[in-house]
Amino acid sequence: MSTTWHVLGAGSLGTLWATRLARAGLPVKLILRDTARLQAYQAAGGLTLVEQGEAQHYAIPGETVDSGGPIDRLLVACKAYDAESAVAQLAPRLAPNAELILLQNGLGSQDAVAARVPQARCIFASSTEGAFRDDDWRVVFAGHGYTWLGDASHPTPPIWLDDLSAAGIPHEWSTDILTRLWRKLALNCAINPLSVLHDCRNGGLQHHQCEVATLCAELSELLERCGQPAAAHNLQQEVERVIQATAANYSSMYQDVANQRRTEISYLLGHACAVASRHQLVLPHLNQLQQRLITHLHTRGLPSN
Ligand code: NAP
Repeated sequence: MSTTWHVLGAGSLGTLWATRLARAGLPVKLILRDTARLQAYQAAGGLTLVEQGEAQHYAIPGETVDSGGPIDRLLVACKAYDAESAVAQLAPRLAPNAELILLQNGLGSQDAVAARVPQARCIFASSTEGAFRDDDWRVVFAGHGYTWLGDASHPTPPIWLDDLSAAGIPHEWSTDILTRLWRKLALNCAINPLSVLHDCRNGGLQHHQCEVATLCAELSELLERCGQPAAAHNLQQEVERVIQATAANYSSMYQDVANQRRTEISYLLGHACAVASRHQLVLPHLNQLQQRLITHLHTRGLPSN
C-alpha cells in the first residue's frame, strides 16, 4: 500500500500536484484550513484541473488540520508567509519519520518550517511549472515546467520520486538545491520589484538596463558572500535573457499587487537584504529598491512583510 500524499493548501500548486497524483491512482488527501473551507470544498465535490482548455474533476478526499491520523508525507503548498504556521499546527500529527516537501518560492520559509519540525526530513523544491486559480477549487495549468527537489543535508533521493514519475510530474533530484533557490531568488529580485515600480511587463525593463545591471552586480556580490558563487555566475546575462524571453508577461509580484494580494517580498527581496545585513554587506541599490517597494505596497494598502 502506497504512503498517502497529504497536500496542505488546495491553491494553484497544491491542486496541480494533488490532481496529477490522484489521476495516477496514488492515495491523496487535502488538508484545508478550517471547517468552513472543508464544507465549501465538499459542496464543490472535489478539485478541477484545466489542461489545454479541458476541465477534469477529481473527487479527492479533504480534511482539516484538526482531523486525526498520522501524516507520513506532507506536500506543503501554501504561500511562503503561511507555511510555518500551517505546518506548526500539523506538527502533532507528523509520524516520527515524516517527510515534508516544501514548494515555497524564495528562501527563509523553508528554514522556519524545518526548525518547527526538527524530527522530520524537509525536502526543498524549486519549480518552473505555472498554474493559477480561475475559481475556488479550480486551477488552470498555465505553464509546463520542471521541479527540482533536494535536501541540503542528505544527498540520498527519497523513494517516492517514483510516484512523481508515475504521476507525470517532471522532476529531478538536485544535489545543489540551495544554489537553485538562490539563483531563482536573485532573478526574482532583479526583475519583479522593478516591474512593479515601473508598472510594466517584464519586457519594459529593457528601458531600464542600467538599473538592472546595478542590481545584478549587488546581487552577485551577495551570492558570492553567502557561499553561492555558482548562483552568481553570469547572473546579469541570464536576467537579460529572461527579460527578453518573458517580455510579454507580467511578473508574479506585479500580478499580486495588481490583484491587491499580499506579495512574498519577505522571502525574496526582503530575504536578500536581511542576509546582506547579516553579512555586514553594504548594498545600497538593493536596500533602496526594498524601501521603494515597501512604500509602494503601503500606498496600495498592502502588507510589506
Ligand atoms: P495559492 O494559490 O495562494 O495557494 C495557497 C493555498 O494555501 C491556498 O489554497 C490557501 O488556502 C492555503 N493555505 C494557507 N494557509 C493554510 C493553512 N493554514 N491550512 C491549509 N491551507 C492553507 O498559492 P500558489 O500559487 O499555489 O503558491 C504556493 C507557493 O508556490 C508559493 O510560494 C509560490 O510562490 C510558489 N509557486 C507558485 C507557482 C504557481 O504557478 N502558482 C509556481 C512556482 C512556485 P485558502 O484557499 O483557504 O486561502
